Order: sequence, then structure tokens, then C-alpha cells
Amino acid sequence: MIWNKPSGARVTATFVLSMFVGMCKAQGPAQTPLTVHLLEGNVSWVEGGGGNSGVIVGDRGVIVVDAKITAAAGKELLDDIAKITPKPVDTVILTHSDGDHVNGLAAFPDAVTVIAQENNKKEQERAIATGARNPPPANHLPTRVITKNDDHLTIDGISFELLHWGPAHTSGDLVVYLPKQKIVFTGDIITNRPDPLIHLEKNGSSEGWIQTAKGIAALDAATFIPGHGPAETKADVASYVAHAEAKRAQIKELVNQGKSLEEIKAAVGDAPRPQGGGPSFASFTDVVYRELTKK
Ligand SMILES: [Zn+2]
Repeated sequence: MIWNKPSGARVTATFVLSMFVGMCKAQGPAQTPLTVHLLEGNVSWVEGGGGNSGVIVGDRGVIVVDAKITAAAGKELLDDIAKITPKPVDTVILTHSDGDHVNGLAAFPDAVTVIAQENNKKEQERAIATGARNPPPANHLPTRVITKNDDHLTIDGISFELLHWGPAHTSGDLVVYLPKQKIVFTGDIITNRPDPLIHLEKNGSSEGWIQTAKGIAALDAATFIPGHGPAETKADVASYVAHAEAKRAQIKELVNQGKSLEEIKAAVGDAPRPQGGGPSFASFTDVVYRELTKK
């Protein structure tokens, strides 16, 4: 067990609950072990194996936010939860439809309730119907669809606010806010990338991203767990939003001046593509340029 004191005021206990699991697996490449970070008595976030996950222990069962990238990583998440509590995982809330947050559901119990924004379900159904690569598990499509922009739910005695401002990272984003604990799970609206990541192929929107990210920054919360990367403060989120808003305004100004995409990328200092063979997505500049020029 490793105890660490992060830079913020909140003292976080970090438990390395499963070590080198990937090295023992008979199939597939070795995977990074998951790391469980305890935020409160009943709330943790889990790093590794895809996007960050949330784990909230309720009265009778456990609510999980995002389910990791593969069945193996989903199983490892469930194994780590079993070390925290004997209560069963009964609910999964999905922040969006990307495989690194959804596909681990394959390892979850059949009876688990899966909550998602309505467009998330449509995106998953489309991925299955069109034979997309690494589709979501067809037996774990969302069973409870959220259509309101601000839905208040009590699950296992825990109060949740599920928030959707409009298309942002995808068309079906859902921000998970625990008002009592002042914790937000942002999904991939906020990540540790230098610029916002927006999937135009899932009808994401840079304008909607700014509205959504400003909404997140305005929540009465102290801890923001992004889709990827370490926990953030309210000030971290606010400065990320301000940076993105200024960059979008600069790109818009250059488009209005008739500059080419290459000229604009050079002018705004587009972030280099990620190293090490990770997925490379359209940059924020690509996205804003395409939106503004309809190219
Ligand atoms: Zn994503």
C-alpha cells in the first residue's frame, strides 16, 4: 500500500491493489495494473486499463462510472472493487460511448443496470450495426437512458446529478456529479491532453464543448476526475477551459482572415501528436477549422 499526499489540500490514500496482473495473463499484451485512489470513505477513482473509472459504494450495492477498455480490464476493476467492499456492483453510469470507457462491461454481471445519455446508446447501437472495430458488448447496451439535461437520481442511497449540456466530446456525453461529496466525473470532456478532444464522427462540437466545460467548472465541487489523467481542482478545470476558449477564438479569427489550415496550425502552435503509438485523433484545430469552414 502506498500513501501519497497530493499537491492539493485533500489527502488521498492511494492503494496499489493489483500488481503485474497483466504479466500473468495467458493472452494479450501485458497491461498496466489498475491503481485505486480513495477520495472519501465511499468514493474512489480507478486509473489504468482505459479511461478513469469512478467507484461509489452505496447502501446495498456499488455504482461504477465507466467500465474500462477490455473485458480483462473490466474484470480487474471488479476484482479491485471486491477488495474495497463485499457489496455487488449493480449500476454502471457511462460518461460517453468510446470503447476505452465502455468495452470492459463485457466482464460485468448480466443483471447490471447501465445508465447512459440517449445519444450514447444510439452511438453504441450504430457501432454494432455497422460492424465497427472493437464494438461495445451487445449484451450490455444501456438499460436506462437519460433524456433530461439535468437529471437527479438517488441510487443505493447516493445522490447523483447527471448533466448534459449538448454535443461536446461526443453527442452523448453525461457528466456525473456527486453534490454531497463535491466530486465530478467529467468523462473525456476534460482529459490530460493539451487541447480538448472532440469526435466529429460522433457529432461532437467545439462550441458545445466550451459550454459543457464551463458548466463543469461552475459546479459546486472540489475534485474533478477527468476521463484520463490525474485528479484536478476547480482552478485546473477553469484554466483549461479558458485556454481552449482563447484558442478557439484565435482559430476563428484566422479562418475569417482566409488563412489555410496549415497556416492556422502553425500560428496557434498545434500540439504534437501523441507519442508511443497511441490513437491519433483530429486535433482541436482540425475540428474547429472543419466546423467553421464545413470542410
Ligand atoms: Zn472518449
